[in-house]
Amino acid sequence: MSELSADTAIATEHVQELTGLSSAALSERYSNSLLGVFGTPQRVLVRGAGCHVWDADGNQYLDLLGGIAVNTLGHANPLLTSVITSQLATLGHVSNFFTSPSQIALAEKLLEISAAPAGSKVFFANSGTEANEAALKLTRRNTGTPENPRTKVIALEHAFHGRTLGALSLTYKEKYRAPFAPLPENVIWIPAGDIDALRAAVDESVAAVFIEPIQGEAGVRMLSEKYLQAAREITATAGALLVFDEVQSGMGRTGSFFASAPVIPDVMTLAKGLGGGFPIGAMIVFGEENTAWLTPGDHGTTFGGNPVACAAGLAVIHTIESQNLLAQVRATGDWLREQLSDIAGLSAVRGAGMLTAFELAEANAPKLVTAALDAGFIVNATDDSTIRLAPPLVITKEQLGSFIDVLPQLIAAAS
Ligand SMILES: *Cc1c(COP(=O)(O)O)cnc(C)c1O
Repeated sequence: MSELSADTAIATEHVQELTGLSSAALSERYSNSLLGVFGTPQRVLVRGAGCHVWDADGNQYLDLLGGIAVNTLGHANPLLTSVITSQLATLGHVSNFFTSPSQIALAEKLLEISAAPAGSKVFFANSGTEANEAALKLTRRNTGTPENPRTKVIALEHAFHGRTLGALSLTYKEKYRAPFAPLPENVIWIPAGDIDALRAAVDESVAAVFIEPIQGEAGVRMLSEKYLQAAREITATAGALLVFDEVQSGMGRTGSFFASAPVIPDVMTLAKGLGGGFPIGAMIVFGEENTAWLTPGDHGTTFGGNPVACAAGLAVIHTIESQNLLAQVRATGDWLREQLSDIAGLSAVRGAGMLTAFELAEANAPKLVTAALDAGFIVNATDDSTIRLAPPLVITKEQLGSFIDVLPQLIAAAS
């Protein structure tokens, strides 16, 4: 054994020791050492490959959730792994006093795939909520006078924008917000998809309108292109900024790079799928006039734009393009929703590309999640009657078909 591999073995000894334990033993260690904000983990996972993961007891699962729309290329993707490790071996972190080629390359690539007009710019963060924080800070500036900024923000009913205090202030669920009051004020929620309500709410006191083009956490509720287009016109007329939160719906998930395309907002936020599992968030600010709202000192981050995270983002975009994944995602997604529509006991099926939800006739979605796990499938309940699927973009019809085959039994087992 070389000196390095001997040292590696010692440095990871603690992890190796835990990897040998049963799920039950590890769950207990988890509860004793991790804060209980996530409840009890459903399984202890030790390994992944492609669209599959394995738990500590050796059971295999087809991952139909993809780390909540994150594992774009599946698990342990060889190219992503190689790009990340080689960037880490070259230059792992510099502060934002400096930059690196991978940071510039990813910014340029994001501007290209988002069809951003000249003068558009990118800010890198580490998560979705941070990308939205940056957007919220930026929208506090859109006024003629710094002494009297517009502060009113319009968000949509059922919106989810994150858990830090600023992003939380935009999140619709009272249950998430109430315990942490006071939050930034002056947020108004209007019914999603209602153009008249939007027109009535947006006047010259409004700083910004935040919209998820597909409301993922709300159970994959779709907004039409017509609505997004109307939002574009209404906000432009009022001088309010239009922010599209594409944290979940972006990066190829719906079969195009962004669910909102071809509508161009003032600000777009990204995270989840961007790094294919490596943490990264981004805010794209469209158009020269909007980039002027934030200037040196207005915002910052230690890790944001980290060379390794940016290299991961580049590998994800490269793979989506070189493997023509967008077309595959559209075709596979349409096929999946057709198959689901034929299944008895489902009251609704909706989605785009590899972001799908179906509603159960009975409010037993959590039970179905458990039954699916026992049968070797990872799915997620967004509420008592809705199941969400957000698998890796590389998933095949055959793999999805194995879930469709057992779904009627799972529905029966859950009711
Ligand atoms: C997940 C999500 C967020 C929050 O992202 P984090 O990385 O968990 O902070 C924000 N907006 C949307 C639409 C999301 O789906």
